[in-house]
Amino acid sequence: MKKINFSAGPSILPQQTIEETAKAILDFNSSTLSLMEVSHRGKDFIAVMDETIALFKELLNVPEGYSVIFLGGGASLQFCMVPFNLLEKKAAYLNTGTWASKAQKEAKLFGEVIEVASSKADNFSYIPKDYTIPADADYFHITTNNTIFGTELHTDLDSPVPLIADMSSDIFSRVIDVSKYGLIYGGAQKNLAPAGLTFVIVKDEILGKVSRKIPTMLDYKTHIENESMFNTPPVVPIYAAMQTLRWLKANGGVPAMEKKNKEKAALLYAEIDRNPLFVGTAAKEDRSIMNVCFVMAKGHEEKEADFSKFAVSKGLDGLKGHRSVGGFRASIYNAMPVEGVQALIDAMKEFEKQNA
Ligand SMILES: *Cc1c(COP(=O)(O)O)cnc(C)c1O
Repeated sequence: MKKINFSAGPSILPQQTIEETAKAILDFNSSTLSLMEVSHRGKDFIAVMDETIALFKELLNVPEGYSVIFLGGGASLQFCMVPFNLLEKKAAYLNTGTWASKAQKEAKLFGEVIEVASSKADNFSYIPKDYTIPADADYFHITTNNTIFGTELHTDLDSPVPLIADMSSDIFSRVIDVSKYGLIYGGAQKNLAPAGLTFVIVKDEILGKVSRKIPTMLDYKTHIENESMFNTPPVVPIYAAMQTLRWLKANGGVPAMEKKNKEKAALLYAEIDRNPLFVGTAAKEDRSIMNVCFVMAKGHEEKEADFSKFAVSKGLDGLKGHRSVGGFRASIYNAMPVEGVQALIDAMKEFEKQNA
């Protein structure tokens, strides 16, 4: 039996994505050739690129005036591409975790960085709320879901300057109003596709405003003008993304995912709050619906290794928490069925009985 994959990333994908991609790797569109060995400029692959971008726009309701592009380099390359293309004098950053800190660090190479607020002193266990976004900043950068700490912004913020969001781990998990953002980016390996693909949604009018020269490959305009085909795009991950988006659409799109994700998260948090052996690490109002972080409750710390082993024996994989939080992290992305969450809850209950 296949294990249940709670890994934070690369992470669980719809079985349909895995099977259809495997088929295309063996024989792409009955061409007898592998998806891995055909030209990205051939008509069959261009059709894949076109469908993937069209589904991306449709499922997120991307308005006119925005481009969707696919790149390599991961979300981490966006940490520098964003300021390279958008930071003229100063930018504002909200520091909500490891990834947010890394994004901020890169921006400092290009100009002044204002950290509007940070929850670092409390090990990023909550999302700061009281701060002012400087109206003269070139942009305001946020991380909507903090994959490591299990906190999440549940609404689209209002910002007086272009809002830039790292949505690596919550894209397509809830309905968003793209028109409130200047740019959204993320690595695809959390909720969409295998590693190697980065997505960027950018409002065209925010580009072209910095005075510095931008290397061709790092200029968003290059990739917009060439429809993500300036150089060889990550062909296999794009094909897999198309399959995931087809699956998403067939399963009711983002609103249906959001409903299911909220139900899954509510079930798991309810068990964490009920079970005397476990305790959640994130502030309740900021709890992520994608990454659920919990540790052993006070007085039960020594049972951590036992629960780890117990979970593995139940086929629950990838539950180890990030080293900066410890304990456990259940990543319950779109592709995680409610039965997977229920299996974890059952294991927690059974472990509680054994330790009564
Ligand atoms: C995983 C992750 C990253 C890093 O992504 P790479 O594609 O590995 O560079 C950045 N931000 C967030 C929120 C993430 O979850």
